[in-house]
Amino acid sequence: MKTVLITGGAGFIGTNLIHYLIDTHKIICVDNFISGSEENIQCFYGHQNFTFIKHNIIEPLEIETKIDQIYNLACPASPPFYQGKNALFTTKTCILGMINMLELANKHNATVLQASTSEVYGDPLEHPQKETYFGNVNPNGIRSCYDEGKRAAESLCFTYKSIFNTKIKIVRIFNTYGEYMDIDDGRVISNFICQTLQNKDVTLYGDGSQTRSFCYIQELLDILVKVMNSEEEITGPINIGNPSEFSIKELAETILAKLPQSSSKIIYKPLPKDDPTQRQPDISLAKKLFHWEPHITLSEGLDKTIAYFEKKLNVIKV
Ligand code: UDP
Repeated sequence: MKTVLITGGAGFIGTNLIHYLIDTHKIICVDNFISGSEENIQCFYGHQNFTFIKHNIIEPLEIETKIDQIYNLACPASPPFYQGKNALFTTKTCILGMINMLELANKHNATVLQASTSEVYGDPLEHPQKETYFGNVNPNGIRSCYDEGKRAAESLCFTYKSIFNTKIKIVRIFNTYGEYMDIDDGRVISNFICQTLQNKDVTLYGDGSQTRSFCYIQELLDILVKVMNSEEEITGPINIGNPSEFSIKELAETILAKLPQSSSKIIYKPLPKDDPTQRQPDISLAKKLFHWEPHITLSEGLDKTIAYFEKKLNVIKV
């Protein structure tokens, strides 16, 4: 049985990944609970394949048990959370955290998979975005702590590979949603669903014409694991996401239409600075290498996510 270390294991993707792997892998979950939640992983406490280490990956990490794989998922990923007072912490997590995980990978001869992001493309001028596109990032804007941090982390992976022959994999994850998102996460799908379920105003930023492409979490797990277990020469970066693109206004209307009993209405708020106007992954590389493409539609994924939040918010259905 392989031993897999997951940083950010108590976060949205991390928790789902532990559910996916726990029966077939020894899991070492690392989290500091700054954006992840202990509630997410409590169900694993006592499981024979599960170990938890409370640790901030900004600090070096020593592990005695032999590790085979590291999924480096630790980092706040929601714009309202990673900016402002958390900006320095975000950059440190991206950069120092990446160095510490690459060092750990070297010591164990483990493979490290870095969860990079569509944010490396910034406000993209090329559409859809291919891995070869260098992006359009504002280097000192409010998102740059995350965007530049993630870009530096990719660079660090390749530096370690060229100097130490570290086994690296980089995936660029586009907007993903589903179970175990935090109610207060601040990202659009959790915000819109929770607002609608609680009869609160649905906060549309800007005129809602900006677009995103949303991938349901279960389909993302499948490709994450495939990339991790791929041949050593496959390093990425590889885009992973669902290419179906929607405007944020369409998303708000879709969620409202799914919950007709709600009294929520759309209200317009200012568009945050540097908010990308469009985003759609070109996933031809993932298709070619892994025969992978998402099939779950936004509507189907939203139904599952709404059911999750209904339970979490204790919404009584009439
Ligand atoms: N957004 C919105 N209302 C919200 C939260 C987000 O209109 O309550 C918009 C946001 O401005 C952006 C899009 O939805 O254009 C996606 O935002 P999110 O924070 O989910 O992720 P991003 O792709 O921007 O990192």
